[in-house]
Amino acid sequence: MKLCMIGTGYVGLVSGVCFSDLGNDVICVDKDEEKIKKLKKGILPIYEPGLEELVLKNYKNKRLNFSTDLQNSIKKSDIIFICVGTPTKKNANSADLSQIYSVGKEISKSINKFKIIITKSTVPVMTGDELEKIISKKVKKNRFSVVSNPEFLREGEAIRDFIYPDRVVIGSNDKKSNLILKNLYTPLISKGAKYVSTNRRAAELIKYASNAFLATKITFINEIANLCEKTGIDIEDISIGIGLDKRIGGRFLRAGPAYGGSCFPKDTRAIVSTAKKFKIDLSVVQSVIKSNNKRSKLLLNRVNHILNNKIKNKKICFLGVTFKANTDDMRDSSSLEMIPYLDKKGAKIKYYDPTGYKKEFDKLKNVLCSNSINDAVKGSDLVIVHTEWNDFKSINFKKFSSSKQFKIYDMRNIFSPNKIKSLGFEYFGIGR
Ligand code: NAD
Repeated sequence: MKLCMIGTGYVGLVSGVCFSDLGNDVICVDKDEEKIKKLKKGILPIYEPGLEELVLKNYKNKRLNFSTDLQNSIKKSDIIFICVGTPTKKNANSADLSQIYSVGKEISKSINKFKIIITKSTVPVMTGDELEKIISKKVKKNRFSVVSNPEFLREGEAIRDFIYPDRVVIGSNDKKSNLILKNLYTPLISKGAKYVSTNRRAAELIKYASNAFLATKITFINEIANLCEKTGIDIEDISIGIGLDKRIGGRFLRAGPAYGGSCFPKDTRAIVSTAKKFKIDLSVVQSVIKSNNKRSKLLLNRVNHILNNKIKNKKICFLGVTFKANTDDMRDSSSLEMIPYLDKKGAKIKYYDPTGYKKEFDKLKNVLCSNSINDAVKGSDLVIVHTEWNDFKSINFKKFSSSKQFKIYDMRNIFSPNKIKSLGFEYFGIGR
């Protein structure tokens, strides 16, 4: 099939290249000329394990292409996936849908034959209705169909998640499009993905309800971790003890810093805002947002306590600054609250991230990027493990034990406290 992905970011690029690898002809379009120019040279705009090889392979065999020409790419394709951003509106909590609607207007100018237009971006319930209205101003309704096909991939595991999803959700109000899309997804369904066929509004809400639930699970275990810290219990025992109950499930039960990233913070805000529009009070999700917003402050209080209330001039090392491991995504990472706070308090901060230097800390005078774990850790008073990259799990602390001793605040509980303590380091974890 001939597919066009509009928006070549984390979702558009990953799903575009995976669709091409499944044998479809795919054009990935973006308005960012620099991004497209680089992609054509084989330079990727994001870090995602395994992505580069797949892009190079499918670009070489010409099943994958890149373009800035939206009109022409739409004309050449049967199925159009909208994968543009849906960030939070400025000074509000609802989703900013301006990129979606502006793409809708562009699509309406280029419909030369029947097209299936899909929102793969996360969009609030009834966005598809509005998109249909926009397009039908210029195009007869029997020439196009608007479908919702939310994406559930996780950054860092995106390719695996795309190829082996738990489910494929198609929200379509017409049978013809549903059949075409079931056909498109057959290679994934035959590998075990469940196919969920529903109406468009339900598919839109499934995505928000999923993210709100996962954010709730993380926040729940983070709050239980707070209780563990006061009662001498290890949160890891609790996660195992409750996660083995199949009704609960063990995933997303790892205590850590505030959840961040490009999805949970904005999507929890947006679902509450949508519900308000319909005079529905999502009090559970509201509490989750409130609790998560307070979490970085809580962890910073612990840093203060670990450093005996003396942050000024203390050398603090951050291992990992992205919102989680295996991604370069800084959006809503808790480090964006923690590092500026510590900088303002006069700490001298060095950070090391496997995905390199981050421009977000450029303006902070006490913050330096290190190009190795060794350089970042050496001479520190406190080492904060902010993300759980494998590179950090295998640090040999023994080699630092003869030089200056530092304290370790393991915000992902990746180390065994006893092992670290036996090397002479003071160890602090989350909920333990
Ligand atoms: P992104 O910011 O990485 O990519 C969006 C891309 O769209 C950008 O490259 C931008 O230049 C491009 N764009 C914007 N307007 C355009 C236009 N008019 N024409 C062509 N290109 C245009 O965003 P993302 O992280 O890929 O997220 C996209 C959507 O998918 C969001 O709604 C997000 O909530 C959802 N989502 C994201 C993830 C994730 O892990 N990142 C997972 C599931 C769903």
